[in-house]
Amino acid sequence: MEEVRIKVPPGRIQIKEARCPNGCSLMDKNKLISSKPSIKVRISSRGASGLIYFNPFYGLFEYESELELHDGDIIEAHCPYCNVNLTSEEICGMCGVPMFAMHLEDGGELRACPKVGCKNHSLTIVDLDAQFAQYYDEERRPKM
Ligand SMILES: [Zn+2]
Ligand SMILES: [Zn+2]
Repeated sequence: MEEVRIKVPPGRIQIKEARCPNGCSLMDKNKLISSKPSIKVRISSRGASGLIYFNPFYGLFEYESELELHDGDIIEAHCPYCNVNLTSEEICGMCGVPMFAMHLEDGGELRACPKVGCKNHSLTIVDLDAQFAQYYDEERRPKM
């Protein structure tokens, strides 16, 4: 399958469904960020572990974490339900550490760098489908 990478302006795409490789939904309807269900991941850092909730709008880099995080810390990300490690094979081009990945509906992946403070997120879409074609239309619409 062809891998399509898209760059999108921050805050324009809401991640509505993200799953671990085993299929657990990571969306938490009880923890809203920007009034939308957040993406919940279990992380560990410096020997401690806790939950982190990401803003579901792609590119906003907002999160609420049970662990206190400092710029430069490298977290390890796991599914909060089945505990599978979310580390992917892609290396962050800015930090040189493996990024973690969440599966989106329809074959896409959302990847993020585990180093706190790094803003290297990437949205990889495998098999561009109607859902994402919609976003492209959205982007082309003139701003009001
Ligand atoms: Zn899982
Ligand atoms: Zn990085």
